[in-house]
Amino acid sequence: MTTNGLAGLRAVVTGGASGIGRATALALQAHGARVAVLDLTPEAVSAPLVGLRVDVADDASVRTAVEAAATELGGIDILVNNAGVGAAGTVEDNPDQQWRSVLDVNVLGVVRTTRAALPHLRRSANAAVVNTCSIAATAGLPQRALYSASKGAVLSLTLAMAADHVRENIRVNCVNPGTVDTPWVGRLLDAAEDPATERAALCARQPTGRLVTADEVAAAIVYLASPAAASVTGTALAVDGGMAGLRLRPA
Ligand code: NAD
Repeated sequence: MTTNGLAGLRAVVTGGASGIGRATALALQAHGARVAVLDLTPEAVSAPLVGLRVDVADDASVRTAVEAAATELGGIDILVNNAGVGAAGTVEDNPDQQWRSVLDVNVLGVVRTTRAALPHLRRSANAAVVNTCSIAATAGLPQRALYSASKGAVLSLTLAMAADHVRENIRVNCVNPGTVDTPWVGRLLDAAEDPATERAALCARQPTGRLVTADEVAAAIVYLASPAAASVTGTALAVDGGMAGLRLRPA
């Protein structure tokens, strides 16, 4: 495998114990990066990945974990803000407290981790932040008001942070996955009345007719994090089976 210029770079991946984050941590490592995974469940992470406990909803926990990662890796070049939680329902279904707790993880989690990592990123010759956003940021999905609003904020934050830090040579981009076959989606399907029908409906929603794989999203994150993307900042890369871009005519 080529290294994409990532050999020896130091990467922090939040939510890297499962799904997209796990695939990203392993892909970065396979490209020669040294990787710390910051997660609620670091015991799920095995060497050579470094597992550190964090709750991105807690500022002190984030500052402690990011400093520990920087010490362990000898600095930070790449930050992947991937930790996130889901929420179903319309604006009538989610009480204020649920809004606060989801926004605390999905939006403020990105803010806190980036804030803690910036002093380290400023010392890097390849400083890159990649946020895991979602097609939900722009798609107008039904029954996803809170989740969509949280990812809309991540998209806006990506653009604003890219503008704020471009002259410091820190790039900021995001990926917008469609529905990805991860433990998260597995849990959603398990909870459905008829998981097979629900899976078929999720597949049909994407023009490719199948779910995105975590490895496919990881490959996009690896590219955005790598020196190969040195002129790429303030972009959202859709990895969604064509869901956002294609308007297929009914057969
Ligand atoms: P997942 O549930 O498989 O993994 C999420 C990881 O985040 C877990 O390891 C979990 O422990 C960690 N995490 C959750 N809350 C945390 C917190 N407060 N602090 C630290 N870690 C925390 O989910 P996934 O499907 O891999 O999703 C990862 C990201 O991708 C999320 O931001 C999600 O919104 C986004 N996303 C997922 C899909 C999809 O279809 N799976 C689509 C678009 C975007």
